[in-house]
Amino acid sequence: MTATTDAQRSVLIVGAGLSGAVVGRALADAGWAVQIIDSRAHIAGNCYTARDADTGVLVHVYGPHIFHTDDADVWAYVNRHTTFRAFKNRVKTTSQGAVYALPINLHTINQFYGKTFGPADAQAFLEAQGDASITDPQTFEEQALRFVGPDLYEAFFKGYTEKQWGCAPSELPASILKRLPVRFNYEDDYFAHRFQGMPEDGYTPMVASILDHQGITVTLSTTFTPDMARGHTHVFWSGALDGYFDFRLGRLGYRTLDFEAFSGVGDYQGCAVMNYGDRDVPYTRITEHKHFSPWESHDSTVCCREFSRAAGPEDVPYYPIRLVEERALLGDYVALAQACEGATFLGRLGTYRYLDMDVTIREAMDAAEAFLARGGHLPAF
Ligand code: UDP
Repeated sequence: MTATTDAQRSVLIVGAGLSGAVVGRALADAGWAVQIIDSRAHIAGNCYTARDADTGVLVHVYGPHIFHTDDADVWAYVNRHTTFRAFKNRVKTTSQGAVYALPINLHTINQFYGKTFGPADAQAFLEAQGDASITDPQTFEEQALRFVGPDLYEAFFKGYTEKQWGCAPSELPASILKRLPVRFNYEDDYFAHRFQGMPEDGYTPMVASILDHQGITVTLSTTFTPDMARGHTHVFWSGALDGYFDFRLGRLGYRTLDFEAFSGVGDYQGCAVMNYGDRDVPYTRITEHKHFSPWESHDSTVCCREFSRAAGPEDVPYYPIRLVEERALLGDYVALAQACEGATFLGRLGTYRYLDMDVTIREAMDAAEAFLARGGHLPAF
């Protein structure tokens, strides 16, 4: 193979999270030279996990990540790279002085209203709470008022969502609430997907295994500069979409999270995630990390209170906001991106979407396959 041919079969991937790792691995398996850079000092992006130095508890450093999917290929893929343990996410919420199960299920409804409904009665009761005049809910608030009514909306969603998103639920799309089901049985698993679990040693070794290929070079603590693309035929960009263009049209809005860690002995709250629905509690939830690894035994415990706020330029971007204003700006950035030759935008930051891990992996697998099928070409989006 000549030097020129080598250069033609070489890509630069910006970001060593799930998108970058999955694309990189597929291309390396196909014989491409893959250079991955990441501005952080670690791989695995926001699903990075690390053991707490004092207690040994496995910590989800950027907040809770529970793997769940209906995609059998994605499930097989992640299982090739680590051992998954069975895990059900049983979320609780504290609201108005009581603790309830989420997502809203028959137990939540009966407990909240002091009833002993069976499924059909609960469904009829909740239907009567809902505002039937809202025929085509567009906003988060309309979706809530239509399907659960004002009491449950106020108790579980309104305050939490104001804290989480920093705006009124009437400004947010219904799609955010559609992530959460309402169940008329006692199933309290947060997710309804066929496959779910937790990687036994956390996500970092899983991503390390995906990246473990002689064709892949990973360079950490390295910020992209345009000269780095030289010598590569294609760039896969999983950093912030607006960052690729030096924010020249303005910044796409994100929510960032602050984690206030505290530790102690024993069991602090008895579950992995406790949400706080009340507006006057400043944090959205408390995560007790050892409950994400229930097969491990720890006398000590590490917890994080999670606070959400608007991200500044130096903050870690977590949730794309995607309100009307951002959607217009997003459209302008997508137009810029579509004019880019030789670059493809991937993942939560690269496409500015609220993506679960399984969707991120699926899209990265598909992008790599399309790139290879087209002989090393792929459009920006
Ligand atoms: N949500 C809420 N109350 C809760 C949990 C969630 O109002 O106790 C809303 C909130 O707006 C959140 C959305 O539902 O952003 C989706 O929740 P999910 O648990 O999927 O959020 P994530 O874990 O991704 O932050």
